[in-house]
This record gives sequence, C-alpha cells and structure tokens, in this order.
Amino acid sequence: MVLTDYERLAALNKDHLWHPFTQMKDYINADPLIIERGEGIRLYDVQGRAYWDGFSSVWLNVHGHNVPELNQAITDQLGRVAHSTLLGMANIPAIELAAKLVGISPKGLNKVFYSDSGATAVEIAIKMAFQYWHNQGASGKTRFITMNQAYHGDTLGAVSVGAIPLYHEVFRPMLFPSHVIPYPYAYRHGGDELKVMEDTLTALRKLLETRSDEIAALIVEPIVQGAGGIVVMPPGCLREMSVLCRQHGVLLIADEVATGFGRTGSMFACDLEGVSPDLMVIGKGLTGGYLPVAATLATDEIYNAFYANYQEQKTFFHGHSYTGNPLGCAVALASLKLMEERNMVEGVRVKAAFVERKLTALKDRPHVGEIRQKGLMIGIELVRDKASREPYDWSERIGVRTSQRARALGMLTRPLGNVIVFIPPLASNEAELDAMTDILIESIISVT
Ligand code: PLP
Repeated sequence: MVLTDYERLAALNKDHLWHPFTQMKDYINADPLIIERGEGIRLYDVQGRAYWDGFSSVWLNVHGHNVPELNQAITDQLGRVAHSTLLGMANIPAIELAAKLVGISPKGLNKVFYSDSGATAVEIAIKMAFQYWHNQGASGKTRFITMNQAYHGDTLGAVSVGAIPLYHEVFRPMLFPSHVIPYPYAYRHGGDELKVMEDTLTALRKLLETRSDEIAALIVEPIVQGAGGIVVMPPGCLREMSVLCRQHGVLLIADEVATGFGRTGSMFACDLEGVSPDLMVIGKGLTGGYLPVAATLATDEIYNAFYANYQEQKTFFHGHSYTGNPLGCAVALASLKLMEERNMVEGVRVKAAFVERKLTALKDRPHVGEIRQKGLMIGIELVRDKASREPYDWSERIGVRTSQRARALGMLTRPLGNVIVFIPPLASNEAELDAMTDILIESIISVT
C-alpha cells in the first residue's frame, strides 16, 4: 500500500512528536491537523484545506502569514549573518531593535535584555527583581506577589509565580512560594466590578503594609489575564496596584507577553492606564509572530543597581545561546515598521468595535455566560446555566467540542477550559473578521 503524504506524516507525528499542553492519549487518535503553509491570515494543511487563524497561532501573529516585508527582512539579514552572540559583542538588528523598543514602551523603561520566549523573559524579570534588591543590600526582599489564576509561562521561576492549579500544582514542591492575591474576576465572584477590585486592592494593600520588607515585586498580566480565561480588569485597577507598589517600595513587573504590541488596542496594555512598570516582559507579537524573540525591559534605576566594579559581584549572570538573535531582531524591526506604516494599533480599536457588534448575536444565548473583550482579545465563557452561572463540568469538554466544530467550519482556535478564545491576527480585515465571527457564533450555537 502506498501511503499518502498525509498518512506518512500523521504516522511520524504519532510515533515521535510530543505536543505541548496536550494529553497525547486524546490527541493520538484524533485526525491530526498538519500545517503546510500560511498565506494572509489563513493556514493550509497538507491536505490543502484552508483555516482562518482564529487565535493568531497562540496569540502572537500580527500581520498574517507569509508576509513579503517580513520574509524580506529575514532574507536580507540571512545574507549578512544568521546569528552571533551578545556575550561581549553586539549586532546591528539587536541594537536597532533595543532603541526602537525603548521608544515605544512606557516611560522610564530604558534598557532591553533579550531572551527567546515569554517564559524566559519572565524568568529574567524575576531574577532581575530579586538581584536588584540584593545588590542594594536589601537581601530580605525575596518574595513575589502574583494573582489568582495567573499564567507567566512554564519555566520554573515562571511557574512559581503561576497560579493555575491544573498546570502548576504538581510542581509545587520544587517551586519557591509566592503570595497570591485575588484577581478581580467579577463574573465569577458576585458580578460587582467595584467590589472585586476593592477585594484585590485590599489584599494587596494588606500584604504591602505588613510584609513589604520581604517582597521584591508584584507580577501582573496588565488589564487582561490571558490563560486564566481572558478576564478583563475593572478600569483603574492596574493603576491603583501600581501606585500601591510604588508607595511601599515594591517593584511592578508587567507581563505584556500576551497583551503587548497592539492586541488590546494600545501598543501596551499598561498604556491604557498610563502605568510605567519597573520591569516589562514582552514576547509573542514582538516579531509579528515569526521568530522566537522575547525581551525584558528595565528602568535605569534597576540597571544602575547592577552597574558596578566587577569585584562588587553585581553582574547579572544570565543569558541564552540565542539571546539577541539577529534574524529575530531584524524581523521584529520590520514588524514594528509595518505596524506604524499601517496604523495598526488604531486599526485594532476600529476592528474591535466591529467584532463587539457582531458578538451581540451571542448575548442572549442560553449558554453564553459572559463575553469578555479588550481590543482583539476575546473570551466567551460558556455556562451550563446562565441564571446561576453554573459552569459546565470539565468532563463535558464544551470548549474542546466548540473548537472542534469551529475547525470543521474552517477556523482554528484553542479554548481555555469553558472559555472560547477568539484572538485574530491584528491585520485581519473587516470581511475576514466577519467570516471568522460567523464561524465562532455558529460553532457556539451548534454545540451548546
Ligand atoms: N506570560 C503570559 C502573560 C503569557 O500569556 C504567556 C504565554 O501564553 C507567557 C508568559 C509565556 O510565553 P511563552 O509561551 O512564549 O513562553
């Protein structure tokens, strides 16, 4: 029997590839989706089927796939050098990109430290915050505050400030302990935004008033908590949190990995409330969704705490082999240029309003609990009972089934439990958003 290319690849996939965040027992028997190419905001599988990229290939695609300007930037850089280290030397795209990032980031973030994924950039922020205090002689400030259901990546430091039990609990014995404050998730905690915000701020205030001498930093997903269910903070909450941290001498780490680069309708979510964090973590959309580059931005104050004679042992001993990769930095520069030329951040606000109007069609559906949206980050929480907000039991796999239905209708997305995620590439035009939201609506209606 002659195997088709699909059958051959599916067999190899089954035999050798271990997929992230995937129960392989479920996956192995399903019809695997094998992507061959992308064009615009569509991906094509090896059998020639087209799919809308309804979750931006895990929340990172900005301009779509196979974008001539981005391809060209990589090709041009390839003709010069693919990689050289940042250990004791620099390269042109890494320098240019650092300067560019400083120019578009919240005030005060003047230094850029590169890495290669959101998690490693978080790891760096945590280590920097820790050593910042150590270098200042405040070595008792070793603990971190995080928020309930927070997700900051999968390396051990990032998991230590993570608070999603399903992902993190098994590793608890090998983690450092963090303080966890409530996330202002109004829908699941009584429905009153002001009340949940006050609960969050009270818990933070209490910790800061009693323990700020042992706390290095608060780490937060600004404005939108991503993997926790696309949960949007009440207005003003982030701002208040930042004020409290400043008052009590605790650093603020803004994890903009998911929210950065226009996704929420502002270049960074911190900008929405005029917040300038001490450390900012970026990844995902930084390269337009092309190559694995991430970064941690720091203020001069933090940088200066490491700037000393070598013998003082204040050096930040951290780095990765591919830190500041020229190909990645070159494509990031090209992506930012396109974002500016095409006025994309402003465009997100217009597109978001269009999607919001379309999604009103779901508002009164019996199993649609809440539609949450900030810019082009959308989460739709499905519930078994709308009046009591009783959730679907996880064993019903309502999110998975809805996403499977969407795939059958030609759109890719990946749920967060009972929350259906819609995070289209920022470049999606109105007709494309129209087609994708139609599929989203139809799949929710047909499954619930
Ligand atoms: N931080 C946040 C807020 C994220 O949403 C993610 C990924 O979803 C990460 C960190 C980790 O990024 P990466 O998957 O690139 O390690």
